[in-house]
Amino acid sequence: MQTPASKTAVDRHYDLVIIGTGSGNSIPGPEFEDQSIAIIEKASFGGTCLNVGCIPTKMYVHTADVALQTAESGRLGLEAEVNSVDWPGMVSRIFENRVDAISAAGEEYRRGPKTPNIDVYDQHAVFVGERTLRTGQGVHPRTISGDRVVVAAGSRPVIPEAIAASGVRYHTNEDIMRLPQLPKSLVVIGGGSIAMEFAHVFDALGTDVTIIARSTLLRNLDQDLHGPFNNLAAERFDIRSGRTPVGAVQTDQGITVRLDDGSTATGEVLLVATGRIPNGDLLGLPAGGIETIGAGRIKVDEYGRSTSAAGVWALGDVSSPYMLKHVANAEMRAVRHNLLNPENMQRMPHDHVPAATFTHPQIATVGMTEAQAREHGHNVTTKVQSYGDVAYGWALEDTTGICKLVADKDTGKLVGAHYMGPQASTLIQQMITVLAFDLDVRQFAANQYWIHPALPEVTENALLGLTFNQPDHNNSPDHLTS
Ligand SMILES: Cc1cc2nc3c(=O)[nH]c(=O)nc-3n(C[C@H](O)[C@H](O)[C@H](O)COP(=O)(O)OP(=O)(O)OC[C@H]3O[C@@H](n4cnc5c(N)ncnc54)[C@H](O)[C@@H]3O)c2cc1C
Repeated sequence: MQTPASKTAVDRHYDLVIIGTGSGNSIPGPEFEDQSIAIIEKASFGGTCLNVGCIPTKMYVHTADVALQTAESGRLGLEAEVNSVDWPGMVSRIFENRVDAISAAGEEYRRGPKTPNIDVYDQHAVFVGERTLRTGQGVHPRTISGDRVVVAAGSRPVIPEAIAASGVRYHTNEDIMRLPQLPKSLVVIGGGSIAMEFAHVFDALGTDVTIIARSTLLRNLDQDLHGPFNNLAAERFDIRSGRTPVGAVQTDQGITVRLDDGSTATGEVLLVATGRIPNGDLLGLPAGGIETIGAGRIKVDEYGRSTSAAGVWALGDVSSPYMLKHVANAEMRAVRHNLLNPENMQRMPHDHVPAATFTHPQIATVGMTEAQAREHGHNVTTKVQSYGDVAYGWALEDTTGICKLVADKDTGKLVGAHYMGPQASTLIQQMITVLAFDLDVRQFAANQYWIHPALPEVTENALLGLTFNQPDHNNSPDHLTS
């Protein structure tokens, strides 16, 4: 491919330019050793997941789970309590000892002698022409171009106008985890996964949590999880659902948020977790001839190519319908393959995308809800199985965990799986396998062992509870142990 025809003076031309070091940083492997590559990263190496997303949140969530289990251990006959919470110690364990070290090592590797074909640029990049970007190295502005450009620039938190305009100090996922002290009280704006994970963390560690949500919490869940989850959340949090913030002021107590019904919510700290917006709107995409969906989501074809700009590719949150790390990584693998094998390209893998919310109780879902399955015309069979009906659920003294499976009575195929309870994100993996390999669930329960008395027996029992028009004769619950 030729150097782009552009009137802009270019400091250096590369075979490949990558914007963003989240999943984008995993593209250059040994197969790219003979290519000149520019990696542009304006913030910390490793992107959202490593620095301010999946990984540190789950390190806090695990700590919160332990604190909550300790507080609730009376039901197991134990007398135990959390005597103190060393928040600054957690911050340094999670960030200084782990996340920051990994991020710094990642950057050092890319800048160092082991990847001599790669140059790192560390200033915000914008397109100034076709496959041409203005960025910088330290204080030195640079304009670079590439035969091919991969945009893996991620997303950022949405801030409601009423909060942005109020001038109050608010936090997002980008800085809430590095607070100097654990706050006594926290107002969370948002009712999605990120809001629920932080609400769980802070509540479990001893902070009073108020949640302001435009709708109900985790509103896209299957109805059999949605109601119970909202009821359980109401036992822990002060929830103002169906409410929108209309303003906020700084007071002696912290931040007071005014709501559209005239009420207020006050907390020492305010967290905004109202969703994420793809970063394309900050990339000067029109100059690069790059089409978007809405303001910032780059429009790509099934292979990850920009629909309008030849040689431009995109992956992850900046272009994907799914803002999830496992999807960004899977898209990265497809784009990497397609860059190397233009004659034999792979599609972006978007079938049966699972998701988990690491709150309490933990939630994991894959495939359709019951309502969606009916809308899609499936002849639906469902089973809601309580954790409390299997032996390991007894060991846990669990009273709220459920697994709901949704299948098609005619085909014997699973169409959705929904878990709420301990280890939900692990338990669901078998159902992800069923969907990925298009297995017939009439045989899946009976034709394998299920370790007794392990928690996957909840899945086994749920499968055995589904009813089909042509039941498999092996699918009998005779060997059930609970
Ligand atoms: C709090 C939180 C918890 C999450 N938990 C989970 C979870 O448990 N499981 C899960 O699957 N997903 C989770 N996610 C989502 C997940 O983090 C993202 O889907 C994933 O990190 C997106 O990866 P990416 O490579 O597309 O973008 P990113 O990782 O965001 O990388 C983009 C990079 O591009 C850089 N960049 C952007 N614009 C420019 C520019 N113009 N110039 C130079 N550099 C630029 C950014 O600085 C950033 O480093 C979570 C997200 C958040 C916020």
